[in-house]
Amino acid sequence: MPLYKTPAIILRSMPYGEWDKIVTFYTLDFGKVKGIAKGAKRSQKRFGNTLEIASYVKATFFEKETSDLVRLSYCELIRPFAGLREDINKLAWASYFIELVDQLTGERIKNKSLFKLLIVFLSLIDRGILKEEIQRVFEVRLLSLLGYQPEFNRCLRCRKGFSGEKFFFSVREGGILCATCAANLPGLIPVSLATAKTLLLARSIPLDKVGRISFSPQSLEESEAILTPFLQQYLGKELKSKKFLEQA
Ligand SMILES: [Zn+2]
Repeated sequence: MPLYKTPAIILRSMPYGEWDKIVTFYTLDFGKVKGIAKGAKRSQKRFGNTLEIASYVKATFFEKETSDLVRLSYCELIRPFAGLREDINKLAWASYFIELVDQLTGERIKNKSLFKLLIVFLSLIDRGILKEEIQRVFEVRLLSLLGYQPEFNRCLRCRKGFSGEKFFFSVREGGILCATCAANLPGLIPVSLATAKTLLLARSIPLDKVGRISFSPQSLEESEAILTPFLQQYLGKELKSKKFLEQA
């Protein structure tokens, strides 16, 4: 039985029976994996406090032929991100990013860039960079990495680039439409040229510069107005963490 060892972020962990925990983790090498940590409720030695939400760990596990769950045998902390669980605001932000990843990914689909994205954004929150921009940047980049990238470069229908100042976002079609193509279509969301450009920048800015990005108030408002329903159509439900975030 081969043992696998991989860096991982704990997405979810819940008690199971008297001694065990069921853990969902996002790994660098295997994507999302679900496993059981036998004796996790009492074994300080093997798991300590590594199974907390948002912990960044090195997980060791093996497959059980009789189960869909892997058997988590050992976890060591790489970075605890303890700050994320000690501050209610930071926890709300981290929970939102984590729930998005959990809800939008299937099991065992490797995506190293997504893993890296999550680490970078958890680090930003850990450092106390709680700007609304960060949520929008995470959302656009996550969508791109999952293959749901919305078109912000040119009109989806006539393929014309940026001409004019007014555009409309179509959630159903997944991108912007020029004023001519948008005429009389229902359910479109107005977007300014500045917001389309801001979202393009959000997608391409190097990850180490994300903490410094700043949107105009209008772009903040417009980008939330388009990204929330756009994500919603893939999520199919409202996230608990999103409500938590709005109250925090
Ligand atoms: Zn057009």
